[in-house]
Amino acid sequence: MNLSREKLLLRKIEKVKTQLAALGDLRPGSLSTQYNVCGTPGCRCKATPPKKHGPYYQVSFTRKGKSSSKFVRKQDLAAVRKELKNYETMKTLVDRWIDLATELSNLRLANKRT
Ligand SMILES: [Zn+2]
Repeated sequence: MNLSREKLLLRKIEKVKTQLAALGDLRPGSLSTQYNVCGTPGCRCKATPPKKHGPYYQVSFTRKGKSSSKFVRKQDLAAVRKELKNYETMKTLVDRWIDLATELSNLRLANKRT
């Protein structure tokens, strides 16, 4: 019974690895849209009502405890959105792998005892 559970876990782990290998480009972070006001006197961004500059797209992310952000051109938005989505998928898959691997290890450690 434990052996079939082990086989099932191994099969699930292989599936996770296959899905990870199939992932495309990725990057961490979240996308936001900004409208800015400039320093030019009499500019439309200071009119009433103001017509601010933008939209500007920005991806914010934290790596190794350091937060930063990067502007994204409009023509790159679709690619970056896909990369952000792939990153989230990668995290979900790695989490699943960790859970499966831990259960597998526990199972094998328990089998050695008996
Ligand atoms: Zn302006």
